[in-house]
Amino acid sequence: MSTPYPHLFTPITIGSISLPNRFVMGSMHTLLEEMEDGFTKTGAFFAERAKHGVGLMVTGGVGPNQAGRLADDEHTLEREQQVADHRLITTAVHNAGGKILMQILHPGRYGQHDKLVAPSAIRAPINKRVPHPLTDTEVEQTIEEFVNCARLAQSAGYDGVEIMGSEGYLINQFLAPCTNQRDDRWGGSVENRMRLAIEIVSRTRNAVGESFLLMYRISLLDLVENGCQWEDTVTLAKRLETAGVDVFNSGIGWHEARIPTIAHNVPAAAWSWATGKLRRELAIPIIATNRINTPEQAEAVLAAGDADLISMARPFLADPAFVAKAQNDSAAAINTCIGCNQACLDQIFRQQLCSCMVNPRACRETEAQPARTTAPKRIAVVGGGPAGLACAVTAAQRGHRVTLFEAANRIGGQFNLAATIPGKSDYAETIRYFRQQLIEHQVDVRLSHQVTTDELVAEGYKEVVLATGVTPRKPAIAGIDHPKVVDYQQLLEQQMEPGNRIAIIGAGGIGMDVAEYLCGREPDDQQAELNQFLDFWGVDRNTSVRGALKQPLAPKSERTIYLCQRQPGLPGKGVGLTTVWAHRLSLQKKGVQFVAEVSYDRIDDAGLHLSIDGEPRLLEVDQVINCSGQQAHNPLAETLAARGITCHSIGGAATADRLNAVRAIGEGTRIGDQL
Ligand code: SF4
Repeated sequence: MSTPYPHLFTPITIGSISLPNRFVMGSMHTLLEEMEDGFTKTGAFFAERAKHGVGLMVTGGVGPNQAGRLADDEHTLEREQQVADHRLITTAVHNAGGKILMQILHPGRYGQHDKLVAPSAIRAPINKRVPHPLTDTEVEQTIEEFVNCARLAQSAGYDGVEIMGSEGYLINQFLAPCTNQRDDRWGGSVENRMRLAIEIVSRTRNAVGESFLLMYRISLLDLVENGCQWEDTVTLAKRLETAGVDVFNSGIGWHEARIPTIAHNVPAAAWSWATGKLRRELAIPIIATNRINTPEQAEAVLAAGDADLISMARPFLADPAFVAKAQNDSAAAINTCIGCNQACLDQIFRQQLCSCMVNPRACRETEAQPARTTAPKRIAVVGGGPAGLACAVTAAQRGHRVTLFEAANRIGGQFNLAATIPGKSDYAETIRYFRQQLIEHQVDVRLSHQVTTDELVAEGYKEVVLATGVTPRKPAIAGIDHPKVVDYQQLLEQQMEPGNRIAIIGAGGIGMDVAEYLCGREPDDQQAELNQFLDFWGVDRNTSVRGALKQPLAPKSERTIYLCQRQPGLPGKGVGLTTVWAHRLSLQKKGVQFVAEVSYDRIDDAGLHLSIDGEPRLLEVDQVINCSGQQAHNPLAETLAARGITCHSIGGAATADRLNAVRAIGEGTRIGDQL
């Protein structure tokens, strides 16, 4: 069958490994390994992706020694006795027809434990602890431990290793002047700063022989002050190639960088230009990464000559069959990663098992998967937001006959609103996926249909899923019914024209999104979007300055916007740790004023009257946008139950408390599995 993605499905040989396509599953921590039977679970996780055509994958980072653990309870590979565990992973992947590399990651000063080390005793801004500066002997020992780790990975059956040299981890710390202030043979001159990386690679190559794949993740753009110089990175790459690297992977930005690199507000394939820039200097292949989420985006990067392979991690969480669907010309059936981080990276930061918002089955591959039903039922799902869609699709996939009633004239619910926020347009991809699944599984979708209890009874439904969502909560503030007050839903559905001076009540996730919406300047096209993003965050595309930073060009919003909250501190309570900082920074750069610890006095023609520390203050605004929360909307539950119909309330219809899309889609999927 011909493919619309000819570059993606052209086989390639890297080192001694032949791959059927250009997809690499990039390294990502899932915390599966830390669970009971973790290695079996990790093997099943990767095997599921290999089975569907991912040619090459890379494990989450494994430390080469005790100082090289990410945290106290994180894994290392240091001893022969640990090899058997890893064989569970490699055997599972090989049996599924895939290839797998183990990533060796030494976090250096990012280590979340007391044994952390670094080139110099300089604390990372994202760590409370000061690292111990490695002595010359300890550096030598660390190199040998990298080599030992690679040798053990080889005996565990891995097809190679990825040496993590980017993201601000140990090797990167040795390379950059901001973290390496040594004056011995490991610091000072650029030659000395490169020595650790080159020694690790060349000694590893000597130890493992020619046929074991060596991938090196190179930091193309550090995005920190006094980071590496581009010309030095090119020199490093050439020397590493000579030292034995088979293929480079791209690393973008240190973890402490204050520039988002993978969040949803980063444009698609935003960094592939940097990969392309290095590719033109190299003789060996290089992999592009970060925010490449669809086969179209991946194909475009390859077609532009910016990379030889494409690394994705989160997109394969969202859809393990991504590659097979792309190959079979079924890209419309791909469940696309929308870059939200809510169920993957945010969970990991909370030390909880990784999964995926749009695919709650991710990282649960060893659990029994729901079978196709042997007793199909007629099911009514009321509400076509994320929870209702997930339930309708899951039930229909299992063979039930499902009717979906939606009062609005389109499916998607709150995701339609989210997709209007600048940087969140990917939310429309989830609606696109569900729409395709509704068609494929023949769900009877009735739009603009406010279904009633009488109608459901008359149509003979015995079981109904209520996913009617939420409505904005009206806070008890004098004047809340004043014409100046609108709720976020009215604003985002463009039922009103916002004025020039706005106060937002409520600075949680919705309030921040609304502020971003009000600041928004939509770029004209993809190129303009990328340029605007790089300028806004101060990324030097010419790479003429260390770390690739330049003075940001961040125009203030033309509107005066106050983002108000009753509680103290910064806005964004409840927003995930991996993205909240970028949201705040973005709003601050645009001139949004954060007003905390307020008590709301009243709203009248003059504006919003509030008090801070007992001091009255008037915000003279044209509008007050109510983002102060939501309440459950479940008008049918009681009457249906009274008529003897089995009801399941999910998502916001069950409770608005701590509602987010992870819970909504998770509950929809779970009930769909149980019907
Ligand atoms: Fe992508 Fe969000 Fe799923 Fe993470 S949780 S894989 S970012 S869709």
